[in-house]
Amino acid sequence: MTTDLRGKIALVTGSTSGIGMGIAGELASAGADIVLNGFGDAGDIEAIHKNLSETNDIRAIHHGADMAKPDEIEDLMKSTAADFGTIDILVNNAGIQHVAPIEDFPPEKWDAIIAINLTASFHTTRFALEGMRQKGWGRIINMASAHGLVSSPYKSAYTAAKHGLVGLTKTTALEAAEDGITANAICPGYVLTPLVKNQIPEIAKLRGITEEQVISDVMLINQPTKRFVAIEEIAALARFLCTDGAASMNGMSISVDGGWTAQ
Ligand code: NAD
Repeated sequence: MTTDLRGKIALVTGSTSGIGMGIAGELASAGADIVLNGFGDAGDIEAIHKNLSETNDIRAIHHGADMAKPDEIEDLMKSTAADFGTIDILVNNAGIQHVAPIEDFPPEKWDAIIAINLTASFHTTRFALEGMRQKGWGRIINMASAHGLVSSPYKSAYTAAKHGLVGLTKTTALEAAEDGITANAICPGYVLTPLVKNQIPEIAKLRGITEEQVISDVMLINQPTKRFVAIEEIAALARFLCTDGAASMNGMSISVDGGWTAQ
């Protein structure tokens, strides 16, 4: 069974930072050509795709589509297909977070979280499926969360979006299964990326506790390993899901949370 991804084209949304950057690196090291997406300093982004292509002898480009904007997502999918090739591996990873009680949750933050963490994956998937069906092969990986399976206070929009993404994953899996396409959701526990680091002072303020207590008593309290999940642990799973050995894993929500959701 092949684990070589050479000749495959992988789009990883939100891959200029954190988990997405880790997955892009792992898929590149397996030989896939990479379409990066996400925000950041132009020079830093240039350095990321130069490093990926030179280290792994693959093609890498960056498209700066704002995943909150359907017209920019359409351009990402259509211009990439025309200039680079149709997407074989779609990793819907871009995401944002905001924590606040429901009564104080800014409606514009709700809309942005639903747009980026859920609706963007509908748009990328609807554009990617045709090319995958024509090739009779495709992999769709949706970055959900432990919050796609359970919830925590102050995370209404994020939990709603991630539960929705788990549902979208199941529907995609059912509709595309006969064409050699799989769709799965990865559900990580806490990973120490910028998305999580930014929440620490906000949660400390909301709960009236120190930042150290946020890590030990809020974030890692339910994570039985008592450590953050490593980006490499998620990237390794994403890579495996792209191999032929994972061809019958379909419609699943796979927890990488140190045992959090086993409780
Ligand atoms: P991160 O903040 O390090 O990276 C987020 C990426 O998304 C960046 O590249 C950013 O530029 C991009 N992005 C944000 N808004 C965007 C937009 N509108 N358009 C395009 N790109 C945009 O965060 P991360 O922790 O690596 O999160 C990646 C994914 O993993 C998210 O979907 C997140 O919900 C999920 N996740 C994270 C954790 C965790 O503990 N860090 C746990 C479970 C799930």
